Amino acid sequence: MSKDVETLKRRMPLIEYLRQHNWKGSPVGRSEFVGLCPLHEETHPSFYANTRKDVFYCHGCGQGGDLIRFIQLSRHLSFRQSLACLDLQTAPSDDSAAVLEQTAAFYQQQLDHYPEALSYLNTRGLHDPVLIRELGIGYAPGGTLRRSLTAQGHSFARLHRLGLINVQGADALYQRIVFPLYKGQQVINLYGRSIGSAFAHRFLPGGKGGLYAWEKVRNCFEVILVEGLFDYAALRQAGFHNVTCSLGTHLSADQFRQLCEGERTVYLTFDVDRNQSGQQAAEQLARRLVRQGISARRVLLPEGHDPNSFFVQGGDAHQFQTLVEAAQL
Ligand SMILES: [Zn+2]
Repeated sequence: MSKDVETLKRRMPLIEYLRQHNWKGSPVGRSEFVGLCPLHEETHPSFYANTRKDVFYCHGCGQGGDLIRFIQLSRHLSFRQSLACLDLQTAPSDDSAAVLEQTAAFYQQQLDHYPEALSYLNTRGLHDPVLIRELGIGYAPGGTLRRSLTAQGHSFARLHRLGLINVQGADALYQRIVFPLYKGQQVINLYGRSIGSAFAHRFLPGGKGGLYAWEKVRNCFEVILVEGLFDYAALRQAGFHNVTCSLGTHLSADQFRQLCEGERTVYLTFDVDRNQSGQQAAEQLARRLVRQGISARRVLLPEGHDPNSFFVQGGDAHQFQTLVEAAQL
């Protein structure tokens, strides 16, 4: 039960609920708003809502608590009834794919307008405009997604629920290169690579789907598996078409099943980092694949490289092909 409560509260921040019910609060400090109390009659504001703690307190009537408590008091409902009421108001709608698709399209339109984004792609060696368009690569400059999507009829609550914006309305993928992730024809998540000082990798809440672009390679007898989307893009740009990506070294059960669903050889091309974590993951995965009757080989890149940096540092398709052919069991 307590887990459900937390999930429900995450879907709808208290401040957003109050605003939807026409509460007007003025900011006091960084994370607090004050306004007239919706729970008792008053002429001077004494109702405080804290966005960081997601709670309220009224100095007039002495009531306070979280969103569930507020619904109980304002609508005279029991705890359980309040949960049901909130669930009904915030249930995820199946048009989330449409919102994600519109977001991806919006970010895609931004890409060309931001030199910092283009220069980042340049440092990662990605320059083929046809491939960039095919992969739907975009950029989240920040500050404009909310306006654009609410103008298209999506509520703040829906955008927040999908993890696209935070409680202040700012883009969750702010200053990130954005790749849409598909399941079949539907966008089911977005991956954002930071171009600034924020931590490198970010996904929206929810599943990442299976292996990236699996539909294109599922019938290939030889598949190159990489761990990052920039590795994927670099190989595609170099002319390799039998590539897929696991979005990290740890494969989900679905991704592992996909690799095992037909007879094939998988070329594991994970990062060769100093701490060996990429190679250890590749070794483990190779053993698991072999146990399922799948042939697995490890492509050994030069020390300190991933497939993306290999090409950025001047490696070419011929050299990479040589490494693939020399791949070890
Ligand atoms: Zn009050």
